[in-house]
Amino acid sequence: MQTLLVKNTAVLVTMDDERREIVNGGLFVRGNIIEQVGPTSELPETADTVLDLSGHIVLPGLVNTHHHLYQSLTRVLAQDNNLFDWLTTLYPIWANLTDEAIYISTITGLAELALSGCTTSSDHLYIFPNDCTLDSQIRAAQEIGVRFHAARGSMSLGESDGGLPLIASLKTRRSSSKTASGSSRHTTTPVATP
Ligand SMILES: [Zn+2]
Repeated sequence: MQTLLVKNTAVLVTMDDERREIVNGGLFVRGNIIEQVGPTSELPETADTVLDLSGHIVLPGLVNTHHHLYQSLTRVLAQDNNLFDWLTTLYPIWANLTDEAIYISTITGLAELALSGCTTSSDHLYIFPNDCTLDSQIRAAQEIGVRFHAARGSMSLGESDGGLPLIASLKTRRSSSKTASGSSRHTTTPVATP
């Protein structure tokens, strides 16, 4: 099984129960299991891959607790609008979302997060027009390799009840979209959200 040695970090932040921050620290990984964390002097001397991270701070992966990854496809549109104008501009565009668009937006959004140090992300997907499914999000997350907590959202209030403006062509909580199956975790989250 492949091994990895990270050594000589300026500081290794463990975030363990004792909040240890180890100067000149490192860690030893076998497969995908971290077997040891501690001062470089207490770690194995070598491994299949050795990273000398002198001058670097090493910390656990960041966790993103709120995202709507499909919106990454329209990130440059209506940027100066307030929330409702932004939504009414974008809902007709989002009504054209396809399952492939869900997959592409998830894989690009999660890649961006991984490049910024995020190793766990949630996503709140709450519109399912056309052939969109939650399954494609989970497949994309598996391919990127981050931990992923998918959520199947919906909207409960119409605009006249103080909710967000809806476009009739978007399916809401009566969506017939498939939900995920298999070992990936997912939840259903019945709240309105932009
Ligand atoms: Zn949100």
